Amino acid sequence: MRFVVGLFCVLWLALVVRAQDSSATCRICQTHGSVVCGKHGRELAREQSPTVVHCSVAVECKVCAGALANDCKQCANPTVEQSLAQRQKLGKEWLAKRRQTIDALTAREPFHHLATPHFDLAFTLKPATVGKDKLDTHARLHLFGERLETLRATFLQVLEVPDADLPDRCTVVMNEEPKDHGILGPRLTGLGTANSVGLKLMGPEYVFSMWNDKRSLPDDEAVHRNLVHNVTHLLLSQMKPAMFLGNRSHGWIDEGVAHWFEDKLVGKCTNFCFEEVLMMPGAGFKGGQWRPAVRKLVDEGKAVTFAALSSRNTDQLTFVEHAFAFAYVDFLVTAKGGAKFRDLLRLVKSKTETRDALAKVYGNNPITIDGEFLPWVKANYALLPK
Ligand SMILES: [Zn+2]
Ligand SMILES: [Zn+2]
Ligand SMILES: [Zn+2]
Ligand SMILES: [Zn+2]
Repeated sequence: MRFVVGLFCVLWLALVVRAQDSSATCRICQTHGSVVCGKHGRELAREQSPTVVHCSVAVECKVCAGALANDCKQCANPTVEQSLAQRQKLGKEWLAKRRQTIDALTAREPFHHLATPHFDLAFTLKPATVGKDKLDTHARLHLFGERLETLRATFLQVLEVPDADLPDRCTVVMNEEPKDHGILGPRLTGLGTANSVGLKLMGPEYVFSMWNDKRSLPDDEAVHRNLVHNVTHLLLSQMKPAMFLGNRSHGWIDEGVAHWFEDKLVGKCTNFCFEEVLMMPGAGFKGGQWRPAVRKLVDEGKAVTFAALSSRNTDQLTFVEHAFAFAYVDFLVTAKGGAKFRDLLRLVKSKTETRDALAKVYGNNPITIDGEFLPWVKANYALLPK
């Protein structure tokens, strides 16, 4: 009997100790099992943003190795410890792969790398003033990561495209130096020459590499516009059914859509996809303010007809035709709605002739559509920039 009572006491004691254990709060970690890494200071919120999957600067943190938190030495929590270790492992593997794919090709200081939910960004742009703030390279890396995700989200929203219709990740390499782009651009895209300003691969992998030519991209805003223009081409090409439209007489769509998102997100149109040789650095059309320029040409009876516009490839478009490509996309998206324009894109990407696609979606043809477009320009475009 004494033995039974003794055993009972031991069990009871064990239960009491356990209960005390679980109700006591660890004063160091508040019983979370981990403590926020103190090395990131005010940058912590940026690293924890939902647009960040991995950041090379965080992964290289000597204290947390990218987990952004450290194990609490005071209390044991195996689940938390495991998840910290898992996050560190994933970050380490990711960065090793990025260094191998990008950095190893150039003999330079390491790149900054960022993985967002849909983009892999490699980056060496120098610190720059953005608005009133001076941002260092790491801060700009995050800013461009957010800009890329914003562009993709806006593309989906405006054109009413489901997320599943943009299935592929895009690789974006933003180089400060021409020599890095000269190596990486051709290696990653399989295209172009070492002295290009930007190179794109538009399927089955989606890559954009550029360098910051100050003659055409003098400040952060210009770089942002350049990125929006070029990555729009990647999104438009990968949108299901995947196809590059620029060389199938659909240059007006290919360029018009890229210009339209440039204007929507960064205020004007300053980027053109010409053959490199034809484009002087910094060349442009009407300071990027195209609505008044189009209105003036329409008033003067010098409008480019849709029939002419829709027979050209991207690299055959003149400056004026670029502006009309933009205006036609503006007309169709703004006046007729993104969903219809998406339907037009799906049809021409399925190799439907422009004439048949216009009839199906808008009940128009390449001649009659001018009759709607020209009055719309007069009613909606002012002669002076806003
Ligand atoms: Zn603790
Ligand atoms: Zn970071
Ligand atoms: Zn850390
Ligand atoms: Zn373009």
